[in-house]
Amino acid sequence: MRRAFLRAKRHRSNAQWGLDLAKCGDLYKFTSVNMDVPDLVGEDMTVNRREFVAGLVAGALVPTTSLANAVGQGQLTLGDMQVMTLSDGHLTLPRSMLFAGLESDAVDQILQTRGVPDGPIHPPINVTLMRHGGRVVLFDAGSGPGFQNTAGQLTNALDAAGVAPEEVSHVVFTHCHPDHLWGVLDDFDDPLFPNAEYLMGEAEWAYWFDPNTASTISGDRASMAVGARRRLEVMEERLSRFKGGQEILPGVAAHASYGHTPGHMSFELRDGQQSLLIGGDAIGNHHVSFAKPEWSIGTDQDGELAGKTRVRLLDMLAHDQMQMIGYHFPNGGIGRVETVQGAYRFVPSHDS
Ligand SMILES: [Zn+2]
Repeated sequence: MRRAFLRAKRHRSNAQWGLDLAKCGDLYKFTSVNMDVPDLVGEDMTVNRREFVAGLVAGALVPTTSLANAVGQGQLTLGDMQVMTLSDGHLTLPRSMLFAGLESDAVDQILQTRGVPDGPIHPPINVTLMRHGGRVVLFDAGSGPGFQNTAGQLTNALDAAGVAPEEVSHVVFTHCHPDHLWGVLDDFDDPLFPNAEYLMGEAEWAYWFDPNTASTISGDRASMAVGARRRLEVMEERLSRFKGGQEILPGVAAHASYGHTPGHMSFELRDGQQSLLIGGDAIGNHHVSFAKPEWSIGTDQDGELAGKTRVRLLDMLAHDQMQMIGYHFPNGGIGRVETVQGAYRFVPSHDS
């Protein structure tokens, strides 16, 4: 097994799960407007999605990530692998939620230094598409119709890229948060990718498929657990599970990166000496987490472990000068990591 692949290690014990949940409490207060509890799923969300799509067609409601740059935001070739990022739109997150538990003045100073405008954070959503050996592989599935109105645009991006949902052969998941998982179901609650095989880390599956998670996770996160479980039930028959360190597809290795969620996985794509890390949310933003990787972010479930994972990954990325894709990074999310004055900097490969 290749050297870097061996770095993938399992870090968590079940006993550690669920710590620090209270820090993330605001996440579901914030997302509760689009809450995915069974009573709310169905007609209302379908109408919302239809209206949203109709608005896009009519030229109204075009979000800040326009269709023009939804495709080919970033692309690269890795041997025979053709990789590009597709935009699912963006999220809108109050600083008080995204950086819950951190000292706000310190956070504001980092954001200001790095040129982030005042007010809420608008993280882009970059879904990775890989074509390799006849396979059409997506890494994560975006937010789907029921999360935030500025997200859930993956179908438009696929269409613009000339990829029909039926052509997608595999969907590989980093973790089960809504902006990564909920897009597996379409407006009508049917699988969006009817011919796809699903791949997910074993620990991540076990945590979110457990019916007890909805009651053991902090109260305002329960809707996330309910939403994940409902989707996993639909996916179960076509889903295979893997562990960190496994080569899950030719040239693609799973890299355990726990902390953000109990079983979060990143993926290393490799051809010869060239490699790329699809990081998911193990490194969730390109400002605070690059300045202070060890700091817990509000969306991290186990902040301490997430911080250790970030430190490890950033060290590897900078040391090996490995390319990466950040799910919530700017300019399509493809770039490299540089060290700068005791911290790190994200250097995008594309201008916009
Ligand atoms: Zn995310």
